[in-house]
Amino acid sequence: MQSRRTFLQQLMGAAAVMAMPPHLLAAKPSALPWRNWSGSQVCYPNTRSAPADLAQLQTLLKESQGIIRPVGSGHSFMPLVPTDDTIVSLSRLSGLISVDAEKQQARVWAGTRLGEIGEPLAQNGQALLNMPDIDEQSLAGAIATATHGTGAQITCMSDYVASLQLVLANGDTLECSRSQNTDIFNAARVNMGALGVVSQVTLQNQAPYKLKRETTWLPIEEILENAHQLADDNRNFEFYFIPFTGMGFIDVQNITDEPITKMEKLDQNDGAEDLKTARDLLSWSPKLRELVLGTYMNTLPKEVNVANSWQNYASERNVRFNEMEYHLPRENMLDAFKEIRHIVETQFPEVFFPFEVRFIKQDDIWLSPFNGRETCSIAVHRYHQEDFQAMFAAIEPVMQKYNGRPHWGKLNTMTAQQFAAHYEHWSDFKAIRQQLDPEGQFLNPYLSSLFGS
Ligand SMILES: Cc1cc2nc3c(=O)[nH]c(=O)nc-3n(C[C@H](O)[C@H](O)[C@H](O)COP(=O)(O)OP(=O)(O)OC[C@H]3O[C@@H](n4cnc5c(N)ncnc54)[C@H](O)[C@@H]3O)c2cc1C
Repeated sequence: MQSRRTFLQQLMGAAAVMAMPPHLLAAKPSALPWRNWSGSQVCYPNTRSAPADLAQLQTLLKESQGIIRPVGSGHSFMPLVPTDDTIVSLSRLSGLISVDAEKQQARVWAGTRLGEIGEPLAQNGQALLNMPDIDEQSLAGAIATATHGTGAQITCMSDYVASLQLVLANGDTLECSRSQNTDIFNAARVNMGALGVVSQVTLQNQAPYKLKRETTWLPIEEILENAHQLADDNRNFEFYFIPFTGMGFIDVQNITDEPITKMEKLDQNDGAEDLKTARDLLSWSPKLRELVLGTYMNTLPKEVNVANSWQNYASERNVRFNEMEYHLPRENMLDAFKEIRHIVETQFPEVFFPFEVRFIKQDDIWLSPFNGRETCSIAVHRYHQEDFQAMFAAIEPVMQKYNGRPHWGKLNTMTAQQFAAHYEHWSDFKAIRQQLDPEGQFLNPYLSSLFGS
């Protein structure tokens, strides 16, 4: 890996002799009491609480005044969490509670980070059905926004919930499942933290499995030509496109009995840093940038590794960014992708982060962006110190033209009226929300704009 990076750096150095590297760093965000992962959201809560047990959580909700917002690991880009009043974290309500071996289900505290679920589940003969591309999120946070991995035959994480426990604004607990408080369950599986605090979750799992992950660099045209077939032929398939290079890579995972080859997460930080350096040095000449990066990417060998499923989904993503991701009807992906690529490559030469394209199976959850349709997600990113507004504003109408629904946790400008047109059960969700939280204690300004009366 190191020698490949050196090779790339030498290539770029030689090509950039005439270049004037642009200095794009914006002012650093100042230190603030609470900010999300990317720095796109900040707030000054009066109270921050992390109850040590269920009783403390119930007392907090019963007694606190003003707005209460549950927070997970702060990995959402949208203003779902910010409030000037109370932020409550379930970081101390974490870990496995019990397992049902026969049903292959496990009861887990909702504050558990996804990366801390795999090992205890494996020790009890179970594994998550799928995972997203990082595992820093809390379980409740992941469910709240319909967090997903990739796999044309695999649904998003909210759909693995067999039942869950909510703690309501008045401190009462409420259990819901397909057969108990059914409508609340339909609302609570994708809830944006707008109904109450999810304290425990029963997950439907499967027997432990190993995954073989194969990563192959290819010309983007070849990837696009085969994308739907690859999605149908493999358990997990996604692809990335690197703007201004003509290249991308595919990531394919399938269940295997082969011996384990790796135990650590993939580290994608070096790749992002290299692309940033190439952008800094070469954006003055798109042709040279494509030539240098295309040449480099063509030298990259296929990478193959085998690991326990829970160790093979997530990567390290420490190079921070802001992100917009829309979930489109699967049949619209290719047309939308081509238009978005054209916009970026003709108007935004500073972009160096890849596009990411994933496949998700439909479900029946009221506010799931995957409700009722086989889905392809397209995600675009901007480095966290760069202004994302102009690029996202140029791309969002394309996402919407192709009938996209935004990821609940990722940047978008959709209004309540626009969401309502996408979700058959929008008013049912609002009615359940009103029933569970009549005083609107869980509504911050953004959620109030969506679900307020
Ligand atoms: C680097 C990075 C990679 C990502 N990769 C993926 C990916 O592969 N797939 C994908 O779909 N998304 C991805 N995301 C988005 C992320 O999964 C979602 O935004 C997720 O909601 C974040 O979970 P969190 O624990 O950080 O929750 P937060 O962002 O802190 O909160 C999210 C929502 O959950 C609510 N919430 C949190 N805890 C509770 C609780 N106990 N009860 C009720 N509500 C609660 C909050 O109120 C809020 O509405 C990524 C984000 C980043 C920054």
